[in-house]
Amino acid sequence: MEQVTLYDTTLRDGMQGEGMSLSAAEKVRVVRALDALGVPLVEAGFPSSNPKEVELFELLSELELEQAAICAFGMTHRRGVAPGDDPALLTLVESFAPVVTLVGKTWGLHLEKVTRVSREENLAMIRDSVAFCREQGKRVIYDAEHFFDGFRDDSRYALECLGAAIDGGAENVTLCDTNGSSLPDQISDATASVVTALGERVEVGIHVHDDAGCGVANSLAAVREGARLVQGTINGYGERCGNANLVSVLPALQLKMGFRCVTDKQLDSLTETAHFIDELCNVTPNPDQPYVGRNAFAHKGGMHVAGVEADARTFEHIDPGAVGNQRTILPSELSGKATIRSQAQQAGLEIGAEGEERAIERLKEREHHGYHYEAAPASFELLLRREAGSYEPLFELESFRVTTEKRADGRVETEATIKVKVGGERCVQVAEGNGPVNALDSALRAAIVGRYPHLADIELTNYKVRILDESHGTGAVTRVLLDSSDGEREWGTIGVSENIIEASWEALVDSLEYAFQPRDGDTAG
Ligand SMILES: [Zn+2]
Repeated sequence: MEQVTLYDTTLRDGMQGEGMSLSAAEKVRVVRALDALGVPLVEAGFPSSNPKEVELFELLSELELEQAAICAFGMTHRRGVAPGDDPALLTLVESFAPVVTLVGKTWGLHLEKVTRVSREENLAMIRDSVAFCREQGKRVIYDAEHFFDGFRDDSRYALECLGAAIDGGAENVTLCDTNGSSLPDQISDATASVVTALGERVEVGIHVHDDAGCGVANSLAAVREGARLVQGTINGYGERCGNANLVSVLPALQLKMGFRCVTDKQLDSLTETAHFIDELCNVTPNPDQPYVGRNAFAHKGGMHVAGVEADARTFEHIDPGAVGNQRTILPSELSGKATIRSQAQQAGLEIGAEGEERAIERLKEREHHGYHYEAAPASFELLLRREAGSYEPLFELESFRVTTEKRADGRVETEATIKVKVGGERCVQVAEGNGPVNALDSALRAAIVGRYPHLADIELTNYKVRILDESHGTGAVTRVLLDSSDGEREWGTIGVSENIIEASWEALVDSLEYAFQPRDGDTAG
């Protein structure tokens, strides 16, 4: 099988994205994750003298990696300065990184408007910079900036720029769609010309941005025409609309186009790696992301579900397990017994034929009132448990009261009082909070934590409120969606009511009760 080399630029290009920031130690964790995924080339950025970069390159130089090589990134030397006198180029060759990736100009428009370097001078700068890094013992990848715009403008000159890098000793020339303006046909045509002209002399790479929504398609188009190195970022992070998403490129190359990038076992860790790096970057994983999203293999509706159970190929483009994802069946009004049965099975419940019937009835009735279980699988499991007779309430509510008081000086104070019976004992608790739901949550937890110490690990991670006017004849209702986590698992619950406090209470109680339901091989209680 022919090999395609993945080149990750999450730590440089990816960090240009809005709100992206990682400490040196976090970047090292990303490098480890990429190494474990089997990415052979990892770009760490420019080893400049700012303390964060110094720390990063120090940490990286001590790191033992399975196979990944670290690439240091920089520019061709400045005009009018010999490569050996250019401080930035010296920094690059002095770094421990075995690979240097040099970016240089390819497009006449940039030379005229931005750098004011003559075309000949630019060719010499490319050649001499590459040659200098080679003399200093580095492997060199040449990134041809704005290659596709340059190629459309003056293809002969664009090829001359690549030729200069090859003359200098670059092992790879990577064609960059820096503005992300190109469409797949344009990438194909230009890449094919380059491979025909230079393919014998050098490996060709591709680096594209997603401004036209074609980042993945363009990368694959280039590989189809002979490119054998693909640059991109995890989850497509990057400035503007992002870079080519390696998380989509990798499985497409390996599962659909027959190229080899990583081992099957490494591919199997793709979902986990993509989510791990999202977590590190404080990005909420996109549920609809191709291959690795929570919804990537989610099926709704009786017919789809019956279809995938008969033969998965009917509604799935790949085996979800190949990328470490899994099929999920979304409960919904449309769903039939097959959905209920597979959900019950997943939760380890014996629901029986009558239980199934009741659960379907209950589901229809609740969806009619505005419940929406796709985003609240934990509440759906509780619904099934009630019908299967294996539901265990945490406590019995006697009453609660919430008051919010706004003072003349602007202060707002909220207090909740709750009366519950837990384990046969009556308990009254009062708590303050920064809002009614928070106060209620604190009061409830204080009332029952003695009996359920694991409560302390459960955190409410997201609280979303939506007003529904689609309700049927009762006026507007409020739908609350709550996400919770205990540090290992995450789950979603729902509450619906005309009263926002009541809707929140319902989602809150479901959240806590879900965490404590008895499960096989589980000691959560
Ligand atoms: Zn870029």
